[in-house]
Amino acid sequence: MKKHNFGAGPCILPQDVFKKASDAVLDFNGLSILEVSHRSKDYEAVMHEARELVKKALNISDDYEVLYLQGGATLGFTIAALNMMRSTKKAGYINTGTWASGAIKEAKKVGVDVNVFGSSEDKNFSYIPKNLVVPTDADYIHFTSNNTIFGTQFKEFPKTDLPLVCDMSSDIFSKEVNVSDFDLIYAGAQKNLGPAGATLYIVKKDVLGKSTSAFMPSYLDLKQHADKDSMYNTPPVFSVYVAMLNLQDLLANGGVPKMALKNQAKAKLIYSEIDSNPLFKGSAAVEDRSEMNVNFLLTNDALKDEFDAAWKAAGIIGLNGHRSVGGYRASMYNALELDSVQVLVDVMNDFSKKHG
Ligand SMILES: *Cc1c(COP(=O)(O)O)cnc(C)c1O
Repeated sequence: MKKHNFGAGPCILPQDVFKKASDAVLDFNGLSILEVSHRSKDYEAVMHEARELVKKALNISDDYEVLYLQGGATLGFTIAALNMMRSTKKAGYINTGTWASGAIKEAKKVGVDVNVFGSSEDKNFSYIPKNLVVPTDADYIHFTSNNTIFGTQFKEFPKTDLPLVCDMSSDIFSKEVNVSDFDLIYAGAQKNLGPAGATLYIVKKDVLGKSTSAFMPSYLDLKQHADKDSMYNTPPVFSVYVAMLNLQDLLANGGVPKMALKNQAKAKLIYSEIDSNPLFKGSAAVEDRSEMNVNFLLTNDALKDEFDAAWKAAGIIGLNGHRSVGGYRASMYNALELDSVQVLVDVMNDFSKKHG
Protein backbone atom coordinates (compact mmCIF):
# COMPACT_ATOMS: atom_id res chain seq x y z
CA MET A 1 0.00 0.00 0.00
CA LYS A 2 1.32 3.44 -0.97
CA LYS A 3 1.94 5.45 2.19
CA HIS A 4 1.06 9.11 2.66
CA ASN A 5 4.28 10.58 4.01
CA PHE A 6 3.66 13.52 6.36
CA GLY A 7 7.15 13.20 7.87
CA ALA A 8 9.15 16.32 8.71
CA GLY A 9 12.22 15.24 6.73
CA PRO A 10 13.79 13.66 4.79
CA CYS A 11 10.93 14.67 2.58
CA ILE A 12 8.71 13.08 0.03
CA LEU A 13 9.83 13.74 -3.58
CA PRO A 14 7.91 13.26 -6.86
CA GLN A 15 7.61 9.60 -7.96
CA ASP A 16 9.11 10.50 -11.30
CA VAL A 17 12.22 11.81 -9.53
CA PHE A 18 12.57 8.57 -7.56
CA LYS A 19 12.27 6.65 -10.82
CA LYS A 20 14.93 8.68 -12.65
CA ALA A 21 17.22 8.57 -9.62
CA SER A 22 16.98 4.80 -9.43
CA ASP A 23 17.64 4.52 -13.18
CA ALA A 24 20.85 6.53 -12.74
CA VAL A 25 21.98 4.23 -9.92
CA LEU A 26 22.05 1.46 -12.52
CA ASP A 27 23.06 3.45 -15.57
CA PHE A 28 24.53 6.93 -15.76
CA ASN A 29 26.25 6.95 -19.18
CA GLY A 30 27.50 3.40 -18.66
CA LEU A 31 28.43 3.83 -15.00
CA SER A 32 26.40 4.13 -11.84
CA ILE A 33 25.82 7.66 -10.55
CA LEU A 34 27.16 6.21 -7.27
CA GLU A 35 30.60 5.49 -8.76
CA VAL A 36 31.05 8.32 -11.21
CA SER A 37 33.96 10.69 -10.65
CA HIS A 38 32.89 14.14 -9.55
CA ARG A 39 35.70 15.42 -11.81
CA SER A 40 34.22 13.80 -14.91
CA LYS A 41 32.69 15.98 -17.62
CA ASP A 42 29.35 14.24 -17.15
CA TYR A 43 29.21 15.06 -13.48
CA GLU A 44 30.49 18.60 -13.93
CA ALA A 45 27.47 19.09 -16.15
CA VAL A 46 25.20 17.81 -13.37
CA MET A 47 26.68 20.19 -10.81
CA HIS A 48 26.43 23.06 -13.26
CA GLU A 49 22.79 22.34 -14.03
CA ALA A 50 21.86 21.79 -10.37
CA ARG A 51 23.26 25.24 -9.57
CA GLU A 52 21.70 26.95 -12.57
CA LEU A 53 18.26 25.50 -11.91
CA VAL A 54 18.22 27.01 -8.42
CA LYS A 55 18.85 30.41 -10.01
CA LYS A 56 16.12 29.80 -12.54
CA ALA A 57 13.57 28.56 -10.00
CA LEU A 58 14.06 31.56 -7.72
CA ASN A 59 14.94 34.21 -10.36
CA ILE A 60 18.36 34.78 -8.86
CA SER A 61 20.67 37.29 -10.49
CA ASP A 62 24.32 36.72 -11.38
CA ASP A 63 25.27 38.67 -8.26
CA TYR A 64 24.82 35.40 -6.36
CA GLU A 65 26.63 32.09 -6.12
CA VAL A 66 24.74 28.84 -5.60
CA LEU A 67 26.68 26.14 -3.73
CA TYR A 68 25.96 22.59 -2.61
CA LEU A 69 27.92 21.71 0.52
CA GLN A 70 27.63 19.11 3.26
CA GLY A 71 27.02 19.27 6.99
CA GLY A 72 23.31 20.07 6.90
CA ALA A 73 21.76 23.31 8.03
CA THR A 74 23.37 22.50 11.37
CA LEU A 75 26.80 23.30 9.93
CA GLY A 76 25.13 26.21 8.16
CA PHE A 77 24.66 27.86 11.57
CA THR A 78 28.46 28.02 11.91
CA ILE A 79 29.18 28.78 8.25
CA ALA A 80 26.72 31.69 8.29
CA ALA A 81 28.26 33.24 11.40
CA LEU A 82 31.85 32.83 10.19
CA ASN A 83 31.22 34.18 6.72
CA MET A 84 29.08 37.14 7.79
CA MET A 85 31.33 38.35 10.62
CA ARG A 86 32.60 41.90 10.01
CA SER A 87 34.01 44.73 12.09
CA THR A 88 31.44 44.89 14.91
CA LYS A 89 31.42 41.12 15.48
CA LYS A 90 27.79 41.62 16.55
CA ALA A 91 24.69 40.10 15.01
CA GLY A 92 20.94 40.30 15.60
CA TYR A 93 19.02 37.00 15.78
CA ILE A 94 15.33 36.20 16.13
CA ASN A 95 14.66 33.14 18.26
CA THR A 96 11.60 31.32 16.94
CA GLY A 97 12.39 27.80 18.07
CA THR A 98 14.80 24.89 18.17
CA TRP A 99 16.63 25.62 14.91
CA ALA A 100 16.86 29.36 15.50
CA SER A 101 18.22 28.62 18.99
CA GLY A 102 20.77 26.30 17.40
CA ALA A 103 21.89 29.06 15.05
CA ILE A 104 22.30 31.43 18.02
CA LYS A 105 24.29 28.89 19.99
CA GLU A 106 26.72 28.18 17.16
CA ALA A 107 27.20 31.88 16.32
CA LYS A 108 28.21 32.52 19.94
CA LYS A 109 30.65 29.61 19.80
CA VAL A 110 32.62 31.24 17.01
CA GLY A 111 32.75 34.57 18.79
CA VAL A 112 29.74 36.49 17.52
CA ASP A 113 28.22 38.84 20.08
CA VAL A 114 24.58 37.79 19.58
CA ASN A 115 21.72 40.18 20.28
CA VAL A 116 18.46 38.20 20.41
CA PHE A 117 16.13 41.09 19.52
CA GLY A 118 13.00 38.98 19.18
CA SER A 119 11.87 35.72 20.73
CA SER A 120 8.70 33.68 21.15
CA GLU A 121 10.17 31.42 23.81
CA ASP A 122 7.69 32.77 26.39
CA LYS A 123 4.86 30.83 24.68
CA ASN A 124 6.78 27.74 23.60
CA PHE A 125 7.52 29.30 20.18
CA SER A 126 3.88 29.18 19.12
CA TYR A 127 4.03 32.55 17.32
CA ILE A 128 6.30 34.84 15.30
CA PRO A 129 7.42 37.91 17.27
CA LYS A 130 6.24 41.16 15.64
CA ASN A 131 6.92 44.90 15.70
CA LEU A 132 10.55 44.23 16.42
CA VAL A 133 13.16 46.93 16.64
CA VAL A 134 15.87 45.55 14.38
CA PRO A 135 19.36 46.46 15.64
CA THR A 136 21.42 48.77 13.42
CA ASP A 137 24.72 48.16 15.17
CA ALA A 138 25.49 44.67 13.86
CA ASP A 139 27.22 42.86 11.01
CA TYR A 140 24.10 40.98 9.98
CA ILE A 141 20.57 39.92 10.95
CA HIS A 142 19.58 36.25 11.08
CA PHE A 143 16.20 34.51 11.16
CA THR A 144 14.55 31.17 10.36
CA SER A 145 11.80 31.58 7.76
CA ASN A 146 9.82 28.47 8.69
CA ASN A 147 9.92 26.80 12.07
CA THR A 148 9.69 23.15 11.19
CA ILE A 149 9.11 21.94 14.74
CA PHE A 150 6.65 24.55 16.01
CA GLY A 151 4.70 25.08 12.79
CA THR A 152 5.14 28.84 12.46
CA GLN A 153 6.30 30.79 9.40
CA PHE A 154 7.33 34.38 8.78
CA LYS A 155 4.75 35.97 6.43
CA GLU A 156 6.77 39.16 6.32
CA PHE A 157 10.52 39.23 6.59
CA PRO A 158 12.41 41.54 8.97
CA LYS A 159 13.19 44.90 7.37
CA THR A 160 16.77 46.04 7.67
CA ASP A 161 19.54 47.78 5.76
CA LEU A 162 22.01 45.32 7.23
CA PRO A 163 22.89 42.06 5.47
CA LEU A 164 20.04 39.63 5.97
CA VAL A 165 20.72 35.92 6.54
CA CYS A 166 18.09 33.22 6.58
CA ASP A 167 17.84 29.52 7.36
CA MET A 168 15.20 28.55 4.75
CA SER A 169 15.57 24.80 5.18
CA SER A 170 11.91 23.94 5.40
CA ASP A 171 10.20 26.40 3.07
CA ILE A 172 12.62 27.14 0.25
CA PHE A 173 11.00 26.53 -3.17
CA SER A 174 7.57 26.34 -1.51
CA LYS A 175 6.69 29.93 -2.43
CA GLU A 176 8.23 32.89 -4.19
CA VAL A 177 10.93 34.79 -2.36
CA ASN A 178 12.90 37.85 -3.33
CA VAL A 179 16.45 36.55 -3.06
CA SER A 180 17.88 40.03 -3.67
CA ASP A 181 16.69 40.96 -0.14
CA PHE A 182 19.23 38.52 1.29
CA ASP A 183 22.98 38.28 1.53
CA LEU A 184 22.95 34.62 2.48
CA ILE A 185 20.34 31.88 2.41
CA TYR A 186 21.06 28.32 3.48
CA ALA A 187 18.90 25.22 3.53
CA GLY A 188 19.37 21.52 4.24
CA ALA A 189 18.26 19.79 1.04
CA GLN A 190 16.14 17.14 2.69
CA LYS A 191 13.06 19.27 3.44
CA ASN A 192 12.03 20.47 0.00
CA LEU A 193 14.87 20.10 -2.45
CA GLY A 194 16.14 16.54 -2.48
CA PRO A 195 17.48 13.69 -0.37
CA ALA A 196 19.63 14.24 2.70
CA GLY A 197 23.33 14.86 2.17
CA ALA A 198 23.49 18.23 0.44
CA THR A 199 23.03 21.69 1.90
CA LEU A 200 22.18 24.57 -0.37
CA TYR A 201 23.85 28.00 -0.01
CA ILE A 202 22.77 31.05 -1.97
CA VAL A 203 25.29 33.76 -1.26
CA LYS A 204 25.81 37.24 -2.63
CA LYS A 205 29.20 37.45 -4.34
CA ASP A 206 29.89 40.66 -2.37
CA VAL A 207 29.92 38.65 0.84
CA LEU A 208 32.71 36.30 -0.16
CA GLY A 209 36.15 36.72 1.35
CA LYS A 210 35.19 39.56 3.72
CA SER A 211 35.05 37.71 7.02
CA THR A 212 36.96 39.19 9.96
CA SER A 213 37.07 35.88 11.81
CA ALA A 214 40.56 34.74 12.76
CA PHE A 215 39.24 31.18 12.75
CA MET A 216 38.24 30.08 9.24
CA PRO A 217 38.81 26.44 8.27
CA SER A 218 38.93 26.16 4.48
CA TYR A 219 35.81 24.03 4.23
CA LEU A 220 33.76 26.61 6.12
CA ASP A 221 34.84 29.47 3.86
CA LEU A 222 32.18 29.99 1.19
CA LYS A 223 34.75 31.75 -1.02
CA GLN A 224 36.76 28.52 -1.29
CA HIS A 225 33.70 26.71 -2.59
CA ALA A 226 32.61 29.51 -4.92
CA ASP A 227 36.11 29.76 -6.44
CA LYS A 228 35.96 26.03 -7.21
CA ASP A 229 32.43 26.00 -8.67
CA SER A 230 31.13 24.08 -5.65
CA MET A 231 33.70 21.30 -6.21
CA TYR A 232 36.34 22.32 -3.66
CA ASN A 233 36.22 18.77 -2.35
CA THR A 234 34.05 15.78 -3.24
CA PRO A 235 30.48 17.07 -3.29
CA PRO A 236 27.50 14.94 -2.18
CA VAL A 237 27.33 13.51 -5.69
CA PHE A 238 24.06 11.57 -5.58
CA SER A 239 22.21 14.09 -3.46
CA VAL A 240 23.06 16.90 -5.89
CA TYR A 241 21.99 14.70 -8.80
CA VAL A 242 18.58 14.07 -7.26
CA ALA A 243 18.20 17.75 -6.35
CA MET A 244 18.82 18.50 -10.03
CA LEU A 245 16.12 16.02 -11.06
CA ASN A 246 13.71 17.53 -8.58
CA LEU A 247 14.37 21.06 -9.82
CA GLN A 248 13.85 19.90 -13.42
CA ASP A 249 10.53 18.43 -12.32
CA LEU A 250 9.56 21.62 -10.46
CA LEU A 251 10.33 23.83 -13.46
CA ALA A 252 8.59 21.51 -15.90
CA ASN A 253 5.44 21.77 -13.79
CA GLY A 254 4.99 25.52 -13.50
CA GLY A 255 7.88 26.30 -11.16
CA VAL A 256 7.67 27.95 -7.77
CA PRO A 257 4.56 30.11 -8.47
CA LYS A 258 2.54 27.00 -9.34
CA MET A 259 3.95 25.15 -6.35
CA ALA A 260 2.95 28.04 -4.09
CA LEU A 261 -0.68 27.68 -5.21
CA LYS A 262 -0.60 23.94 -4.52
CA ASN A 263 0.89 24.51 -1.07
CA GLN A 264 -1.74 27.17 -0.28
CA ALA A 265 -4.51 24.79 -1.28
CA LYS A 266 -3.15 22.02 0.95
CA ALA A 267 -2.78 24.39 3.90
CA LYS A 268 -6.29 25.76 3.43
CA LEU A 269 -7.76 22.26 3.33
CA ILE A 270 -6.19 21.04 6.54
CA TYR A 271 -6.47 24.25 8.57
CA SER A 272 -10.17 24.55 7.77
CA GLU A 273 -10.65 21.01 9.05
CA ILE A 274 -8.70 21.77 12.23
CA ASP A 275 -10.74 24.94 12.81
CA SER A 276 -14.14 23.38 12.15
CA ASN A 277 -13.62 20.03 13.87
CA PRO A 278 -14.30 20.18 17.64
CA LEU A 279 -11.93 17.28 18.34
CA PHE A 280 -8.87 19.23 17.17
CA LYS A 281 -7.17 22.55 17.69
CA GLY A 282 -4.12 24.18 16.12
CA SER A 283 -1.15 24.94 18.36
CA ALA A 284 0.40 27.86 16.45
CA ALA A 285 -0.98 31.44 16.37
CA VAL A 286 -3.44 31.58 13.48
CA GLU A 287 -1.75 34.48 11.66
CA ASP A 288 1.66 32.76 11.84
CA ARG A 289 0.64 29.28 10.76
CA SER A 290 3.09 27.46 8.55
CA GLU A 291 2.03 26.15 5.15
CA MET A 292 4.69 23.46 5.38
CA ASN A 293 4.37 22.04 8.91
CA VAL A 294 0.90 21.98 10.41
CA ASN A 295 0.77 21.42 14.16
CA PHE A 296 -2.43 20.38 15.88
CA LEU A 297 -3.64 18.77 19.10
CA LEU A 298 -6.55 16.60 20.14
CA THR A 299 -8.96 18.48 22.40
CA ASN A 300 -9.52 15.25 24.33
CA ASP A 301 -6.32 13.32 25.07
CA ALA A 302 -8.28 10.21 25.96
CA LEU A 303 -8.96 9.71 22.24
CA LYS A 304 -5.26 9.53 21.32
CA ASP A 305 -4.86 5.78 20.88
CA GLU A 306 -8.00 5.54 18.79
CA PHE A 307 -7.06 8.48 16.56
CA ASP A 308 -3.53 7.11 16.09
CA ALA A 309 -4.96 3.78 14.98
CA ALA A 310 -7.30 5.54 12.53
CA TRP A 311 -4.67 7.55 10.63
CA LYS A 312 -2.26 4.65 10.61
CA ALA A 313 -4.94 2.44 9.10
CA ALA A 314 -5.37 5.02 6.32
CA GLY A 315 -1.71 4.58 5.32
CA ILE A 316 -0.53 7.85 6.86
CA ILE A 317 2.93 7.96 8.38
CA GLY A 318 5.07 10.59 10.13
CA LEU A 319 2.20 12.41 11.80
CA ASN A 320 3.42 12.39 15.39
CA GLY A 321 4.35 15.83 16.67
CA HIS A 322 7.86 16.68 17.78
CA ARG A 323 8.44 15.80 21.45
CA SER A 324 8.77 19.50 22.36
CA VAL A 325 5.21 20.27 21.19
CA GLY A 326 3.34 16.97 21.41
CA GLY A 327 0.18 16.28 19.46
CA TYR A 328 0.47 15.98 15.68
CA ARG A 329 2.46 17.59 12.90
CA ALA A 330 1.49 17.21 9.27
CA SER A 331 4.50 18.17 7.17
CA MET A 332 3.31 18.95 3.67
CA TYR A 333 6.39 19.50 1.55
CA ASN A 334 6.14 20.30 -2.16
CA ALA A 335 5.73 16.75 -3.45
CA LEU A 336 2.90 15.83 -1.07
CA GLU A 337 -0.30 15.81 -3.11
CA LEU A 338 -3.59 17.45 -2.16
CA ASP A 339 -5.09 13.95 -2.31
CA SER A 340 -2.91 12.85 0.60
CA VAL A 341 -4.07 15.83 2.65
CA GLN A 342 -7.63 14.89 1.75
CA VAL A 343 -7.02 11.39 3.15
CA LEU A 344 -5.96 12.91 6.48
CA VAL A 345 -8.87 15.36 6.50
CA ASP A 346 -11.29 12.50 5.83
CA VAL A 347 -9.83 10.55 8.75
CA MET A 348 -10.28 13.58 11.04
CA ASN A 349 -13.78 14.20 9.77
CA ASP A 350 -14.89 10.57 10.16
CA PHE A 351 -13.37 10.55 13.62
CA SER A 352 -15.46 13.51 14.73
CA LYS A 353 -18.64 11.98 13.31
CA LYS A 354 -17.97 8.87 15.34
CA HIS A 355 -17.41 10.89 18.51
CA GLY A 356 -19.81 13.78 17.83
C1 LIG B 1 15.79 20.35 9.70
C2 LIG B 1 16.19 21.75 9.95
C3 LIG B 1 17.50 22.07 10.37
C4 LIG B 1 18.55 21.03 10.61
O1 LIG B 1 18.97 20.55 9.41
P1 LIG B 1 20.10 19.43 9.24
O2 LIG B 1 20.23 19.39 7.76
O3 LIG B 1 19.57 18.18 9.87
O4 LIG B 1 21.34 19.91 9.90
C5 LIG B 1 17.82 23.40 10.53
N1 LIG B 1 16.91 24.38 10.32
C6 LIG B 1 15.65 24.11 9.94
C7 LIG B 1 14.67 25.22 9.73
C8 LIG B 1 15.26 22.79 9.75
O5 LIG B 1 13.99 22.51 9.36
